[in-house]
Amino acid sequence: MSHGGAVPSGGNGPGAGAPRVVIIGGGFGGLAAARALRGSPVAVTLVDRAPDHLFQPLLYQCATGILSEGQITAPLRKVLARHRNVEVVMAEVTGLDAGRREVIARRPLDAGEVRIGYDYLIVAAGVSQSYFGHEEFAPLAPGMKSIADALTIRRRVLGAFEMAETAASAGERQRWLTFALVGAGPTGVELAGQIRELATRTLGGEYRASRPEDTRVLLFDGGDAPLASFGRRLSGVAAASLRDLGVELHMRTRVTGIDRGEIQVRAADGSTRRHEAGVVLWTAGVAAPPVAAALARATGAATDEAGRIAVGDDLTIAGHPEIYVVGDVMSLRQLPGVAEVAMQSGWFAGRQVRRRVAGQRPARRFRYLDLGSAAYISRGRAVLSAGPVALSGFAGWVAWLFIHIAFLTGYRNRAGAILTWWLAFTRDSRRERAFTTGQVGYLADVYDRPPALAEGGAGVRRD
Ligand SMILES: Cc1cc2nc3c(=O)[nH]c(=O)nc-3n(C[C@H](O)[C@H](O)[C@H](O)COP(=O)(O)OP(=O)(O)OC[C@H]3O[C@@H](n4cnc5c(N)ncnc54)[C@H](O)[C@@H]3O)c2cc1C
Repeated sequence: MSHGGAVPSGGNGPGAGAPRVVIIGGGFGGLAAARALRGSPVAVTLVDRAPDHLFQPLLYQCATGILSEGQITAPLRKVLARHRNVEVVMAEVTGLDAGRREVIARRPLDAGEVRIGYDYLIVAAGVSQSYFGHEEFAPLAPGMKSIADALTIRRRVLGAFEMAETAASAGERQRWLTFALVGAGPTGVELAGQIRELATRTLGGEYRASRPEDTRVLLFDGGDAPLASFGRRLSGVAAASLRDLGVELHMRTRVTGIDRGEIQVRAADGSTRRHEAGVVLWTAGVAAPPVAAALARATGAATDEAGRIAVGDDLTIAGHPEIYVVGDVMSLRQLPGVAEVAMQSGWFAGRQVRRRVAGQRPARRFRYLDLGSAAYISRGRAVLSAGPVALSGFAGWVAWLFIHIAFLTGYRNRAGAILTWWLAFTRDSRRERAFTTGQVGYLADVYDRPPALAEGGAGVRRD
């Protein structure tokens, strides 16, 4: 590192001269890689632009007031405190000097440059939201990838109920009580269900002029059905459960524009429609983060259509056996962007480095063990698909609960989440409804901008 030593100074860490391993990203992939290197005679530097490990699968619960941001994050320093050969650096990686084997990063508060030398590099930088070339949609329809995104969504969702209360007309009131969600993958489905539950179970009786129960949730997707990746049966169950909850499904529909207070769509038969909606949220599509493009430029690595970096079977970049890419930002055999792929590939890369440092032969091929996936629909209803096992309804929900409790990182978060869920499920209580407002009219710039219209229509894909 250009200021400070390259080797961690932690008591039992390896001394100067130990091979240096830099991990970019402290998400599921990066953390698994760091854990796989525990006790190995290497000096590990984990660089993340955020101070915390984030449990993304529960972001929607933070956005809708069930869990706090502290319950779905864990400070990276604390998580790795006992890993004596690991140091944590909070900085945003902007580039790579592949010749000198240095990562180039910016410090958080003064944007000062930090250079960190490496012998092995593990890239685990995740993905960002994709608007399919229509970045102008972003301020009008926030996506959900980070804590900041979840808090923005919480502010817009809860703020909309406040706007409805002081609306000048019935039409305006209904507009504020209409939420449009783009993308019916797990995130869109989970958010749609939560907004309906929030409105019908938690907020009812708290407002005088408006009725949160009148809330409409419109879910748009270009595909045939919600949760298509779960197969026909579970996808059908999910569609029925969503309709039961009062979510209005608009499948085979593409978004052509988003404007102040409305969304414009085109159906498969070519017909177009405008829907009034006070809040529009974007839960479709992923794109590789900017650091992936910088890495590809520096190494000549190939990328796929979303900008993810292509790797070989051993997860290294062609021509760079010292650089591993893992998790969502990796492009390999169409593996899905899920936590399990990130954890298993991160662990594999860490073990590979461990073997090489120990003079052992590394494995030739990363094998992914598919443990299945789950999506929450509403209280008491979830779907789970794991090989031949397909659960839905209450059984799926119980399985969902166990999986998420088991995987929440850190004891405090786990215990806190269990208590909060118990209150939320038994009393419809949402304890995390605080949101920051800034100055009066703080959203005026968003709601007063000219229409963001897409020429061809943004393809709405599963997230
Ligand atoms: C809303 C949502 C719900 C999801 N639900 C599920 C689910 O139910 N089940 C499931 O299996 N998967 C789910 N996923 C997917 C899962 O969260 C991802 O597959 C997983 O997080 C990928 O892990 P990763 O380590 O590759 O990336 P991430 O967990 O995204 O971590 C990337 C890390 O890199 C850091 N970073 C990025 N760029 C830089 C940079 N330039 N410099 C420094 N640091 C950087 C980020 O701050 C972040 O900490 C969900 C994702 C989202 C967004």
